[in-house]
Amino acid sequence: MGQIKLLDQNMINMIAAGEVIERPASVVKELVENSIDAGATKITVTVEDGGRKLISITDNGCGMDADDLARAFEPHTTSKIKISSDLLGISTLGFRGEALASIASIAQIRAVSRTKDSTGANCIEIDCGTRTGVSPCSADYGTTVQVRDIFYKLPARRKFLKTANTEMGHITEQFTRIALANENMDLTLIRNGKELYRLSDKDDLRRRITELFPIPSSDISESLIEAGSSEKGLHVQALMGKPLISRTNNRFQYVFLNGRFIRDKFISHAIKEAYRGLLEPGRFPVVFLFIQMRFEDYDVNVHPTKIEVRFYNANLVHSQILGALREKLLGTDLETPGKLPEMQYAESTSRRSPAVRDHRIADAMAEFFRKHRPAQTQQQLGFRPSAPGIVHAVPHEKSAQYDRKFLQIHDSFIVAQTEDGFVIIDQHALHERIIYEDLCRRIRKSKLQSQRLLIPESFEVTVSGAEALKANTELTDKLGIELVPFGPRTMAVQAFPTLLSSVQPLDFIQDLIDLLDRKDAGLDAERLLDEVLNMAACKAAIKAGQKLTDSEIEQLLADRQNAESASRCPHGRPTTITFSISDLEKQFKRT
Ligand code: ADP
Ligand code: MG
Repeated sequence: MGQIKLLDQNMINMIAAGEVIERPASVVKELVENSIDAGATKITVTVEDGGRKLISITDNGCGMDADDLARAFEPHTTSKIKISSDLLGISTLGFRGEALASIASIAQIRAVSRTKDSTGANCIEIDCGTRTGVSPCSADYGTTVQVRDIFYKLPARRKFLKTANTEMGHITEQFTRIALANENMDLTLIRNGKELYRLSDKDDLRRRITELFPIPSSDISESLIEAGSSEKGLHVQALMGKPLISRTNNRFQYVFLNGRFIRDKFISHAIKEAYRGLLEPGRFPVVFLFIQMRFEDYDVNVHPTKIEVRFYNANLVHSQILGALREKLLGTDLETPGKLPEMQYAESTSRRSPAVRDHRIADAMAEFFRKHRPAQTQQQLGFRPSAPGIVHAVPHEKSAQYDRKFLQIHDSFIVAQTEDGFVIIDQHALHERIIYEDLCRRIRKSKLQSQRLLIPESFEVTVSGAEALKANTELTDKLGIELVPFGPRTMAVQAFPTLLSSVQPLDFIQDLIDLLDRKDAGLDAERLLDEVLNMAACKAAIKAGQKLTDSEIEQLLADRQNAESASRCPHGRPTTITFSISDLEKQFKRT
């Protein structure tokens, strides 16, 4: 007898669910997309236990009558396409007719729906494919779909779910994508009974971005430049982050095609090229890109979750995006004006009482004038006197090797005479190396010394950011950073490493969160610590463009003698270029 059998329908649905429903966040995505396709203007997402216990979506869309409600959860049922040619120009987010059937095969569902013109609502319940009939009930117009205990009959898949916090992070990310693409929608996300986001349909995009991306040290939207172009049926609109707010990963690049979040390698490449030469290696720009084009000009039917599309004219898409972004970036003054960090902090923390704010501004002003006195002392430029017990400065005869013959050029490089020629030193790269080695030495012995902040600095974090910090308390502790939670999305820094006193704590913590987020991508503890120390050194080091006094230059040259590997910065770039007298003589044809 033959071995091949036709699978029963529930098996088919479960297999399909494997493609579409990876985790609770996929359920949120599919259900919210259905609400948007149903014309909703107000959507509420409620989640319990990271979506493992409950995901509930309520919308004010067109609703379904009793027949449609029964049919919606059957496989391959959709109202969005009718004939094969519809596939050539899909204007809705969904069209495959498999999401509801898939979800209903792997969880307990209760759906209630009512159309605008009907007097009553209807309800259906389904438990992993086993359904009740549709029965009348009372409800407002629109649709609510509740999904409970996802994968509860599939222990193998349930086991793969991560902690509630991690799953919540994925859900927040899906919510963020939807919120960016639909600025004129009222959207709420509730976690375990508490409101995490309430975004009003009156928001403009910048306001929405500020709410979705709380950046510890500033208001992100102030650092966004607008670009746009419209040609050959392709409309591009972008908010581009200035290089100043670049990140350590590309998670802050959001690309939308006719309201659908997509990932596309041509577009990523165009973005990268647009910023060529404007960012340091390893940094990624923050970009929000919105593309509108004819539905017939691309195919979304290439990926089950529709995150990838196929452009019929990918070159046009690439060149137009690159052109629009690059032109705008090159035409914009990207110099960062010397901002007073303390002052900016006081402004952005508008919840603080005005009296406290004034006080902080006064303090910031005093600090500014102290820092910008004509004669700068060592410490103000980030050179700290060595901590007791650590030999940092070098015996005098070593620095005397330079014989006081040095010169700072363009406030960025130091040219110094050596015994047999001269060196050109990149002041930032060298100082970075010196601090990096110092940090490594100290952290090997024990944790970094820290000092309490006079006023703890509070900041808002994303769900995944808070989670990342929580999971890495051992690391922050080693660094001497003390963080305390203040509320569901607020934390405060109470203590910060003494060695990094020239660094803005909130600025540092933002980059730390980015790094820790990346840890999921396979960075082991040692590499992670190294990356953190790298970043710390880079931030604490004197910058290019900073004028140094003679004694500061002397100190730098002396420390150079002491460093283990002074010729390369921690990123591997050279700190020093050496020239010998004999080379010069050859060049000038003296020999
Ligand atoms: P698709 O979205 O690909 O059509 P789904 O399985 O997600 O497939 O949904 C099946 C159908 O159920 C949709 O085509 C739509 O007609 C109906 N539907 C689903 N969710 C809603 C909703 N929130 N409001 C109104 N109709 C809905
Ligand atoms: Mg759908």
